[in-house]
Amino acid sequence: GAKEHGRNRFAFYSSEMADRAMERLYIEQGLLRAIADEQFVLNYQPVVRLEDGQLLGFEALIRWDEPTHGRIEPDRFIPVAEESGLIDYIGSWVLHTACAQANTWIAAGFTDLRLAVNVSARQMRAGDFDTIVRDTLAATGFPAAQLELEITESTLQSVDRSRELLGRLKALGVMISIDDFGTGFSSLSLLKHLPIDRIKIDRSFVQDLPDDANDVAVTEAIIAMAGSLGLALLAEGVETPAQQQFLRARGCADAQGYLYSKPLDVHDVDLLIASPSRGRLS
Ligand code: C2E
Ligand code: MG
Ligand code: MG
Ligand code: MG
Repeated sequence: GAKEHGRNRFAFYSSEMADRAMERLYIEQGLLRAIADEQFVLNYQPVVRLEDGQLLGFEALIRWDEPTHGRIEPDRFIPVAEESGLIDYIGSWVLHTACAQANTWIAAGFTDLRLAVNVSARQMRAGDFDTIVRDTLAATGFPAAQLELEITESTLQSVDRSRELLGRLKALGVMISIDDFGTGFSSLSLLKHLPIDRIKIDRSFVQDLPDDANDVAVTEAIIAMAGSLGLALLAEGVETPAQQQFLRARGCADAQGYLYSKPLDVHDVDLLIASPSRGRLS
């Protein structure tokens, strides 16, 4: 009967919750070891100019190579790192490592590359985040104007505080972009009053272009809005020529996605930069 059904459902949920709590605990312990044993690596996904596929730079994406379980993707451990506070350490490691690595590609001749680094809301809340960025730029010598910090709409929730912090970051000379745009709750007026350089249209809107009428409408609205606010645009998760064609025709400037390249390990970026055809990815 209904009671039995309810009990089963409860049992189902509670064991699922226990599994999740176990997984969380397990990952949190593992992250402490990962930090101590330096088990993190960065991959870099090419960013291209949509018009002609010209390589513009890279987004740094973290991976965790766990010795017994193999590679663990960020969607599984970044949320745990955020809840536990370990993201402060990990995020600083990412920023420093990406800047140092990208410097070698600048030295190899890709002088004007753009480097994007993801920053979680928790890191931004820490209070001294601008100091961390400033110190990292000073320690690595990476050019501030070529660094782009990717934040999400949830970071912007407390407008006054984010305005102040974003102002201090902009004063360092870095760029700010809004990642996964359209999945959060930022309003037009919010964007207008914050020092933001670029928005990245979330992959979920790009995925079903050009066939899904809703996604077409949303994407066109975002492109129009970015135009009127003077924001640069990037489309995430471009996988097909049809998506590329649609976005090009509507004037979206930049793109990332498997159509151009998956995230690459450092060695493959070295090769890409050394190759004579480096300029074009489509
Ligand atoms: P994100 O910043 O939005 O990064 C884009 C994600 O989409 C990456 O997944 C990338 O591999 C994937 N992607 C790129 N192009 C395509 C495509 O054409 N099709 C599909 N299906 N996927 C594509 P990844 O590397 O697994 O990262 C997932 C998320 O984890 C990132 O989303 C970001 O939110 C977070 N993350 C990754 N690295 C870091 C980091 O260093 N710090 C922080 N705080 N978060 C990170
Ligand atoms: Mg990102
Ligand atoms: Mg994204
Ligand atoms: Mg994401």
